[in-house]
Amino acid sequence: MDMTRIRDHMVEHHVTRRGIRDQNVTAAMRTVPREKFVAPGCEEFAYEDAPLSIGEGQTISQPFIVALMLEKAKLDAGDKVLEVGTGSGYASALISRIARQVYSIERHESLALQASERFEKLGYRNIDVRVGDGSKGWPDAAPFNAIIVSASAPQVPTALKEQLGLGGRLIIPVGRGEEQRLKRITRTGATAFEDEDLGGVRFVPLIGEDAWTAAHPMYT
Ligand code: SAM
Repeated sequence: MDMTRIRDHMVEHHVTRRGIRDQNVTAAMRTVPREKFVAPGCEEFAYEDAPLSIGEGQTISQPFIVALMLEKAKLDAGDKVLEVGTGSGYASALISRIARQVYSIERHESLALQASERFEKLGYRNIDVRVGDGSKGWPDAAPFNAIIVSASAPQVPTALKEQLGLGGRLIIPVGRGEEQRLKRITRTGATAFEDEDLGGVRFVPLIGEDAWTAAHPMYT
């Protein structure tokens, strides 16, 4: 199978036709083999515009949403980026093809391990993976030029805002169920932040100290 053609088709149909113009993002999507980030047996669905199960009750997000989040993060070649919610590792892999260094944090050890193995096999060496609660960020690697949160929080975690450098962008879904909104928070000063609404989205919950609690009946 010619995977390059299949990837090009995905980018044209599910990404550029739906308005994504950032060429860093589309170039990365033409390169990163999404079929290597899905569960065995699901490879044939890897290029559909749909989330897929990756184990632990979690999903790899649909390509269009990942592209939208990365475009809105305005990533640059010199950037240091944090992703909260490594999952399969696909979004971190894309970011690693655009930015200088990626820090990626995941609460499920099995997913973090699997993602690390994928990065190793693909030779993506600029991604550090850690198991932990990303609602507290990754303080020892801060400040970040961009932070992408791939799970929905009840409110914007304070630590993530604080770990943005000046001009840094935080892309985060906020809310529960069908009421989630994608937000971009930009640090415009030492204590000043711009808050933009980017539209409705649907993500799995961010579970942690400054997020939903695992004990919440909706999220166990
Ligand atoms: N970006 C991922 C990809 O490309 O496959 C998809 C992420 S999936 C939609 C959301 C992930 O966030 C899940 O793997 C989940 O375990 C993780 N997660 C939820 N709460 C978290 C937290 N507090 N810290 C780190 N990871 C968290």
